[in-house]
Formats: sequence, C-alpha cells, structure tokens
Amino acid sequence: MLVAIDKEKVRYISWLTEKYQAPFFCPACGDEVILKKGGKREHHFAHKPPFDCIYSSGESQKHYKVKRLIYTALSKHDNCHKCDIERPLDGVRPDISLYIGKTPVAIEIQKSNIDLNDILRRTKQYTKLGIHLLWVSPDNMPNSLSFVEDEDIYIWRPKEWQKFLHAMYFGRIYFWQHDAFVMPIHLNQYEYYKEPGNWVDDFYEAEGIDLEGTSWHDENHPNADYGGCWKTSKTKKVVMCGKSVHIANSFNGTFRSAFNIKNWSLPSAKIWIDVQGKWW
Ligand SMILES: [Zn+2]
Repeated sequence: MLVAIDKEKVRYISWLTEKYQAPFFCPACGDEVILKKGGKREHHFAHKPPFDCIYSSGESQKHYKVKRLIYTALSKHDNCHKCDIERPLDGVRPDISLYIGKTPVAIEIQKSNIDLNDILRRTKQYTKLGIHLLWVSPDNMPNSLSFVEDEDIYIWRPKEWQKFLHAMYFGRIYFWQHDAFVMPIHLNQYEYYKEPGNWVDDFYEAEGIDLEGTSWHDENHPNADYGGCWKTSKTKKVVMCGKSVHIANSFNGTFRSAFNIKNWSLPSAKIWIDVQGKWW
C-alpha cells in the first residue's frame, strides 16, 4: 500500500513520508505497518509478517510505480480535482480517484491475482456510487505475445477476466504507457489455416512405420482426415493497438447498459472510456 495512517488517522503517502514519522498503521485492519524506502524499490508501507490483511496483497513494484506515476501526472493536471490514492469509499478503495471536469472517476490498476468476481463486484459498487471506472494493466503490452511472421500480426491468449473487460469496454483493454497515458488494445478473431493431415498416418509416422499399401492407409480411413481449411481460434486473439491516450484529455464518462454474451451477463456500468474512433 502507498497510504498509511497515524494514531490520529492522518494519512501519509509513502514517497512524501520519512521513517521518523512512525508509527504508521494499516487503514484497513489497523495493524502497524512499516515504511519501506531506499534502493531502487518503490517506497511503500508493508505489514509485518505474518499477516492476513487483503488490503495491499498482490501489489507488485510495478503496481506501486504505475499508481504513483498516474497519480502524480493527474494531480498536476488543470482539469483534475480532489485527486487521491487509496481513498476509502463505501465497499471499495480505488487506487486513484478524482474528479475529471465534473465527473467522478476511479482508476483501478490490475493486480496479477485479480479474478472475475472481484472485477464484477467492484464494477457494480462503483456504478452504485455514481463513479466512472477505468481498469488499467500496469504492463505496457500484453504478456507473452507471439508474432505470426506470415501474416505480420501479434496474437495473444487473454485470460477470462481480460476478455470480460474487453466486452465491458466495447472492445478495448487499457495498458499503461507512461505518466497518465494508456493504450487501448482491441482483440480480433484469429483465423488460421489448418494444414491437411490424417491422424492415423500421423500416429504411425511418429512410430516410424510407413502405412503406404497397407489396410491402415488413409484412403481407407477418410474419417481420420483433418484440416485443409481455415479455422477460428477459440483461445487466441489478434492484438490491434489503438493510439496512446491521456486519461484526463481523451476520455469520457459513459453509461453502458447491462447485456448478455456467450458466457457472461455484464451488469450495467459507468465506465471511463477513450473517445478515439474504432481502429479495427
Ligand atoms: Zn492491513
């Protein structure tokens, strides 16, 4: 966590605080926390082990850094007011919260251990509170992209919750770039050509046995044929990058009504979404 409180409930931001100001306490569970500073690490507050406070669990150095840089950029911006980090609200604690113009906005930086139920719960709660929500990945690009040379495209296997966010934001997922700039990516269907083959042949070829002229040959086993056609991947998607955009300059608050797609029901939601037209 980047914010702790003292005995008088005064809030302290990690990188603006010195160790002699201790003791500090966790705003969620009330246990004493230690200010960690120094070296190349992001300054932050940490519980003394062992602890079982969920507040701050799963936050990485990258998560701290992105939170600090977005906050720093937005708190200096002319159109942003009441910018805060880890502000306790009813049932949620947004990484960054502020007014952009007159619109209340919350920014959540995805932790690596996030799950779909948590995303759903927070989305509903922010909407109930009248706050427009933006989810940002602390990575610059999706992890483990693979390049398909023939087609000059990048493909990626998104997790279930990433596909969910993509649906919620009308086909956009946001990746942090620098300061308050994020890049939306769109996921397209991945069509690939499946080379023709015959699984009976494949099996014996792997065993080093030539089936030519035997009763096991594929001519006698047409049902064992596969491929020779274009397929749509169920798991892999083509990554299409949009333009990098500023969270305060190029976004709008939008109300998205509830809808159902294959696997999910999406609740109605107040989202903070960029205004660039479709690039896919
Ligand atoms: Zn705690």
